Amino acid sequence: MEALTKAVADLETSLAKAPNQDQAVKKHLQSAVVAMRTAIEAHRDSAPASDKLARLNELPEALLSCKPPSVATAPPGTSEAAGRLPSALSPALAEGVKSWTFDLHKIPLAELPALCFGAMMQHPEMAKFLPPLSLSKLWTYVQVVASRYRDNPFHSFRHAVDVTLAASCMVRWTQEAYPGLLNDLQVCAVLIGAMVHDTDHPGVMNNFLIATKHPLAVLYNHRSVLENHHIATAMALTLRPELDWLGPLSAADQAEMRAAMIELVLATDVATHIPFMKSFAADVAAKQVSATQAMHAILKASDISNPSRPLAVYEPWIDGVVKEFFAQGDAERELGLPISMNCDRKTVDVNKCQVGFITFLVAPIYKGLAAFLPAVERELLPVLEKNLAHFKAVSS
Ligand SMILES: [Zn+2]
Repeated sequence: MEALTKAVADLETSLAKAPNQDQAVKKHLQSAVVAMRTAIEAHRDSAPASDKLARLNELPEALLSCKPPSVATAPPGTSEAAGRLPSALSPALAEGVKSWTFDLHKIPLAELPALCFGAMMQHPEMAKFLPPLSLSKLWTYVQVVASRYRDNPFHSFRHAVDVTLAASCMVRWTQEAYPGLLNDLQVCAVLIGAMVHDTDHPGVMNNFLIATKHPLAVLYNHRSVLENHHIATAMALTLRPELDWLGPLSAADQAEMRAAMIELVLATDVATHIPFMKSFAADVAAKQVSATQAMHAILKASDISNPSRPLAVYEPWIDGVVKEFFAQGDAERELGLPISMNCDRKTVDVNKCQVGFITFLVAPIYKGLAAFLPAVERELLPVLEKNLAHFKAVSS
C-alpha cells in the first residue's frame, strides 16, 4: 500500500515537470492519478481492523524518546526464573520490615526486589486475591520495575521499597482499626501501587520538566507530569505477557485494579496534598472515611515518611534528596532558569529546609492520619516531634 502511494506521488511529480506539448494526454494522466488516490483512500478505510489497531499502537514520540533504564537490579536470565517465587524472608527480616524503625539502607540493592515482594506477601490478601499465576508474574514484574527505576540519589528503587514498607505497616494498622474497610483488591492495589509509584523517575521535579518543555510535560499537558509518567510506564509493562500479572484476573477485577492504581499514583502529586488533607480531616471527624480516601492517605503519608523514622534512618534520605535537588538547581542555573525552592546549593540551609518540610507538609498529613490511625499517634508523632526539635536546634 505504501509503495503504491509513493508510485502515484512520483507519477504526479513527473507529470508536473513534463513539457506541455500534449495537453490532452497530460490531462488524462492527471485524472488517472486522482482516481488512483481515491481508490487508495477507499482501500485504507476498508483496511482490516487489525491494521487500524496496529496504527493505534504506535507510541507517542515522548514515550519513544524516554531514556532507557540506567540501573539493572534484576540478574541476567531473570525471565527464565519466571514461575518460581523468591524464598520467604528470613525470620529476622520478616519481623524487621514490619517495624517502623527498620533501616532499609542496610539492605544491598540486589536484595531489594525480593525484600519488597516478601513484605507484600506478608499480607494474606495478596495470595487470597491473586491466583498463583498472577503471583509468579508479579514477582517477575517486581524485578523488571526495579530495573526501570533510575540510579537517582533519592528517587531510586530503594525509595520505592521504603514507601512500600511504610504503606504495608499502615495497611496493617488500618485493617486492625477498621476491619474490612479495605477489601483484598484494595490492599493489593496500595502495596503494588506503592512499589511502582515513582517508576522511571528522572530525578527532577515537575516544574523542571515544564520549564524545559520536556516531551513528557507536553505529552501530559503540564498536569502531574511525573505521576502520569510513573503509572503509565508501570501499566505499559503489564502489556508484556510475562509481566501481565493482571491477566489471570476477571475483566472486572482487572479494570478495578488498574483504576485504583492509577488514581493512587496520581494522588502522590504533592500539589494535591493540602486540599486532600482538608477533606480527609473533615471525614475523619465525621467518621465517614471511604476506602479510597484511606488508600490515598496511606500512600501520600508513606511517600513522605522519612521524617517520622528514627534520625539515623531519616538522615541518609536527606543526603539523597539534597543531592537530587541541588543537581536540579545546578541545571537550572546553567540553563538561565529561575532556581527552584530548596535547589540552590549556594543559599539553601538544609536543616532549615527540614524544619519547613516537616512543619508545612509532613506534620499536617501525619496529624490528620493520627486522628484516623491510633498507631500513627502513638508511634510516629512522637518521633516526628523529636526530629523537628532536632532540626530547629541545629538550624541557624
Ligand atoms: Zn516517591
